[in-house]
Amino acid sequence: MTRPLALTLFLASAAALALSPAQAQTAAAPAPAAAPAPAAFSLAPLPYGYDALEPVIDTQTMTIHHSKHHQAYVDNLNKAVAADPALAGQSLDALVAKAGTLAPAVRNNAGGHWNHTFFWETMAPVAKVSAISPRLAAAIDAQFGSMDKFKAAFKAAGTARFGSGWVWLIVGADGKLAITSTSNQDNPLMDVAEAKGTPVLGNDVWEHAYYLKYQNRRADYLDGWWQVVDWAKVSVRYAAASAAR
Ligand code: MN
Repeated sequence: MTRPLALTLFLASAAALALSPAQAQTAAAPAPAAAPAPAAFSLAPLPYGYDALEPVIDTQTMTIHHSKHHQAYVDNLNKAVAADPALAGQSLDALVAKAGTLAPAVRNNAGGHWNHTFFWETMAPVAKVSAISPRLAAAIDAQFGSMDKFKAAFKAAGTARFGSGWVWLIVGADGKLAITSTSNQDNPLMDVAEAKGTPVLGNDVWEHAYYLKYQNRRADYLDGWWQVVDWAKVSVRYAAASAAR
């Protein structure tokens, strides 16, 4: 014999309630009197819209890259730092500088947060990118022969990076410009970097940075990316990095 419909519905809703008491309680709980301390690190909004770098970098890639990937680095960095009282209150730069002495979760996520923040600030919409300073242009010519030769060498380093990583233009300890590449979320400021220096330009060659639009064509992404590089920003970094020596 089947149950009357009303009884069936009653049993079903009672079962549903019994399965989610925690959810019901959370929804009903009042806000705590004292808010917990804010997380040490947070994700800043992009300095432009998610669609601003079209058609070079598509809206969906920018949205996922910033709101999911970068957000995850920030969230996981906060978790990793919270798990080690010795790291409380330390700056992102301080964590990056000694990344090789820290747990992999701190190294990877501190690097991820630093690198992506730097990356977003390196770029601007095609119609708004600004010109390179004469001083940086001269330094690139002196070091690489010409801007075209520099771009070719940067692209070669980016395509040669096996797996996930970054390609950088840095000011080295000798004050000279150099191209280098790092794996995963490492960067040239880290104690573990093979070539250390101050980054002035960096491109993300993780597949998540380009795969939706460029698929396997990383070289095409590296070529297109120059259209959204804000050389004025890179020039300011170069001025600071080279003046500090
Ligand atoms: Mn990325």
